[in-house]
This record gives sequence, structure tokens and C-alpha cells, in this order.
Amino acid sequence: LTFQEASFPDYILRCLSDAKFVKPTSIQSQGKNYLGWPLALSGKDMIGIAQTGSGKTLAFILPAIIHINDQEKLRRGDGPVALVVSPTRELAMQTSQECNRFGRPCHIYNSCIYGGVPKIYQQRELEKGVHIIVATPGRLIDFLEMGATNLKRVTYLVLDEADRMLDMGFEPQIRKIVSQIRPDRQTLMWSATWPKEVQNLAKDFLIDPVHIQA
Ligand code: AMP
Repeated sequence: LTFQEASFPDYILRCLSDAKFVKPTSIQSQGKNYLGWPLALSGKDMIGIAQTGSGKTLAFILPAIIHINDQEKLRRGDGPVALVVSPTRELAMQTSQECNRFGRPCHIYNSCIYGGVPKIYQQRELEKGVHIIVATPGRLIDFLEMGATNLKRVTYLVLDEADRMLDMGFEPQIRKIVSQIRPDRQTLMWSATWPKEVQNLAKDFLIDPVHIQA
């Protein structure tokens, strides 16, 4: 699979060539008939078993950018259209940087929300209105409870490193967050491993998902 065959719009192809990326990674392309990117772009729910370093972040961020671009422009003060839930501040920051790199050229903005720092700067960003929120669970719930943002417009949900989030005890927080998102969303779940607990979460949150593996 080439980037062109993934049927990306020109503005994405331009970003990829600016980044000097030559071809998709295994998780992004998945052989000839079973394509990670085309799948995510088709709107289907998806489970990806992949480690950090596999290119999984772009596998869900590029479809998110296209998903947002296909919709009406963001009105100031509205909540995000795409939400990425990450287990740690470090992972959330890395994901947010990929969002900046590929989103900003087409005017898609993200906010990175995590605990352990004062709320005020993150809150100001949210007030301006963002298309994508990349968040750790606890701080996101704080902001939802404060009314600093809401998930009413979210139609693209990513649960990243689901196995790690469960290991860290975030299941109640994840359930609380997902319960505020409309059921007709697209959901992508990523995990390095596929134990029973992650399978149960997938059963509750995804509809007829396609599985892909790096
Ligand atoms: P990740 O597994 O998402 O943490 O990505 C690992 C690194 O690979 C990141 O720095 C990405 O920017 C980079 N990357 C993602 N996709 C590609 C690609 N198709 N070609 C080259 N590098 C890539």
C-alpha cells in the first residue's frame, strides 16, 4: 500500500511528504486487502493491537483529521469532535505533538489535557474551542465536571493503550467518560496486549469491530 492508495486527500499527502515519510508502516497499511487506514477512514469501529513505535498514533490521527475536515467548521466554545484518551501525560503529549504536526497545516487544533499542573492554561485553551482533545482520564473528568468542556459533539473516540489504562485502575473513569459520548460515534481501541479485561471493555464500547495487528 502506498500513501496514495490509502485515498488520502491532497492536504494529508502534502503533510506526509513534508514529513519525508516514504511508505506506511505495517499497522497503517495491513497488507493488501486489510488496510488500517482505509478501515479507519471508512468509519468502522476498530481494535488495533500495536506497540509504541509501530506508527499507531498516525494510524488514528490522520483519519481523525479527515473526519473533522469533513464536518462543519468548529464554532467557538463548542466541545471537541475527536477525543483521544491516553493513560499518561507523556503519551498524551506525544500524541498531541503528532496532532500539531499534521493538524495545524489544515487548521485543525488540539488541546492536551493532563493532571499534575495548574488547570488555568489548559482551561483557557479549551475555552477557545478545539477540534481534538488528547487527555488523561482524571483531568478530563475534572474539566467535564467544571463545565469547561463537554463531549456532546464527539463522534470519533480513541482509547489508546487500553491495557495500560486498565492496569493503572482507570476503568471507572473511562466508563464515566464514554457514557457521555453519543452511541453512534466511531470508536478505535488500541492496546499492546489482548487480555480478557480489554476484551470486555471492547465488548461494551465497540460495535462489530475489525481487528488489526502490527
Ligand atoms: P508511534 O508508534 O505512533 O509512537 O510512532 C512512532 C514514530 O514513527 C513517530 O515519530 C511517527 O511520527 C513516526 N511515523 C509514523 N508513521 C510513519 C511512516 N509511515 N513513516 C515514517 N515514520 C512514521
